[in-house]
Amino acid sequence: MTQYDHPSPTSFLLDEENRQLILSWSDEHESIHGWENLRWACPCAHCAGEGGLPGMLQKRQSLSEEETTLVNLEPVGRYGLTPVWEDGHRTGIYTYEKLRAMCECDECRRKVPKR
Ligand SMILES: [Zn+2]
Ligand SMILES: [Zn+2]
Repeated sequence: MTQYDHPSPTSFLLDEENRQLILSWSDEHESIHGWENLRWACPCAHCAGEGGLPGMLQKRQSLSEEETTLVNLEPVGRYGLTPVWEDGHRTGIYTYEKLRAMCECDECRRKVPKR
């Protein structure tokens, strides 16, 4: 049996005050994800494009508050989560790996120098 041993989220919290998602992981990490950053990273075909065609996000300069308000998170198999946004968008599958790579906590930001 192949063991998929990437840490998995055990619970989540919607921090409405700071508009961020806090995920608790099986390895005890707590990851932080600003809702707006999360929405901009939506990997679905509609947002990110497909087959060489640009997606919705590439044509936009900004997103509305509805589009960047997270209302729920749904599990996708045992490998990912789908955020449910206030505007009804819910087709983006964020794998655990992607979410961990996107973590905005101080510790992770120090580890992965961006830009
Ligand atoms: Zn999307
Ligand atoms: Zn982190």
